[in-house]
Amino acid sequence: MNETADVVIVGGGIEGAAAAWALSQRGVSDVLVAERNTVASGMTGKSSGIVRCHYGVSSLAAMATVGLEVFEKADEMFGTDIGFRQTGYVVGVGEANVESMRNSLAAQRAVGVQTEEIDHSDVAQMWPFADLSPFAAFGWESRGGYGDAYLTAQAFAVSARAAGVRIRQGATVTDLLVDGDAVTGVRLADGCTVSAGAVVVATGVWTRSLLGPYGVDVPIRVVREQIVTIDPGVETGNVPVFSDLVSLQYVRPEVGGDILFGNSDLSDVEEADPDNYLNRATEAFVDLTVDKVGTRFPGLPAAAIRTSYAGCYDVTPDWNPVIGEGPLDGLFIAAGFSGHGFKISPAVGRLVADLVIDGRSADPRIPENDFRLSRFAENDLLRTPYPYVGAGQMR
Ligand SMILES: Cc1cc2nc3c(=O)[nH]c(=O)nc-3n(C[C@H](O)[C@H](O)[C@H](O)COP(=O)(O)OP(=O)(O)OC[C@H]3O[C@@H](n4cnc5c(N)ncnc54)[C@H](O)[C@@H]3O)c2cc1C
Repeated sequence: MNETADVVIVGGGIEGAAAAWALSQRGVSDVLVAERNTVASGMTGKSSGIVRCHYGVSSLAAMATVGLEVFEKADEMFGTDIGFRQTGYVVGVGEANVESMRNSLAAQRAVGVQTEEIDHSDVAQMWPFADLSPFAAFGWESRGGYGDAYLTAQAFAVSARAAGVRIRQGATVTDLLVDGDAVTGVRLADGCTVSAGAVVVATGVWTRSLLGPYGVDVPIRVVREQIVTIDPGVETGNVPVFSDLVSLQYVRPEVGGDILFGNSDLSDVEEADPDNYLNRATEAFVDLTVDKVGTRFPGLPAAAIRTSYAGCYDVTPDWNPVIGEGPLDGLFIAAGFSGHGFKISPAVGRLVADLVIDGRSADPRIPENDFRLSRFAENDLLRTPYPYVGAGQMR
């Protein structure tokens, strides 16, 4: 059987779902999302969901503010709670990173981020359990917090479907249909084909193997990332997300009073097979967690490990995504989110929709050129002008 659609989106993770939503918001609803499993069953379901606009790269800071505006209005826009909790976001840095942080905060404010510097006494009130002595400065976003990537992706998909988008679950794309230099559709595992004017590939950690046979190399490494949840042993209350750039960890409240811990030391990563990786923390990682959390939060002496799991990041050479058309006509790639694609997903959806419909970004703060695939071959990587010593990636 041969179907047609204006746009086929391969992958029903949060980025594919956001693209479907944004296209439908712009009136393009002859769209088919082919998801081999179920919506958000990939790495989206593993996301820590941290929401902050703290990026030195201005286009990413702007994308995160677009995301934040959508999360804040989610009840109204989607008619449901998508799990966004506006606890605030605090980032703490040591002496070596004070100048970078101040420059980054100024650049963020220039694209509309509401952020400011706060002092030890402010943070001590928010996180009374923490040893703050090694920090030299703190940045603060009162509008930050954390969300639920699974629920958010479902909300995008439900909204898109209500507008007429076809969300096809259990539909694996086995091949792209290529005619000369143009992608003209996809073939599904059941043999059906879907002809389309545009094909958006949003397959995260699975992107390289899907596109490789067509001579399209998206340089993505698959990196395993472990998460540990902790019973703090006391009521911690409504603590903000805390990004500790001294000992390189982040913590945030978790539903039910627990604390979610992630390691932000990405200097020595573990590559993995996205279809066969250890879905729990190793003993060494649990030891690291106990050490980092115990050192930073001496006010939680009864804290205990609750559980753990793992997911995979789709990491590009500059730890930033590829969002753009090409190198084949009609092929759009939205992949390589490198562990920070949740918070920007509404803006990713809108950028994909703009590129498919108009060929360029509608938001001057978010030039599509920043995210072009060719930047890797050109050795013109998308890097922050204000790097943090020891924590360069993702900021
Ligand atoms: C442990 C962890 C913590 C994170 N924490 C944060 C955070 O705090 N803040 C933040 O902003 N971001 C965070 N992220 C990153 C964010 O969650 C991801 O960038 C985002 O979820 C990626 O979404 P995606 O749609 O690109 O990929 P996925 O969710 O993996 O979706 C890709 C989809 O493509 C489907 N697919 C693959 N191949 C095919 C095929 N051939 N045919 C059809 N379908 C196919 C898969 O089944 C999958 O559903 C985290 C990620 C992880 C793993």
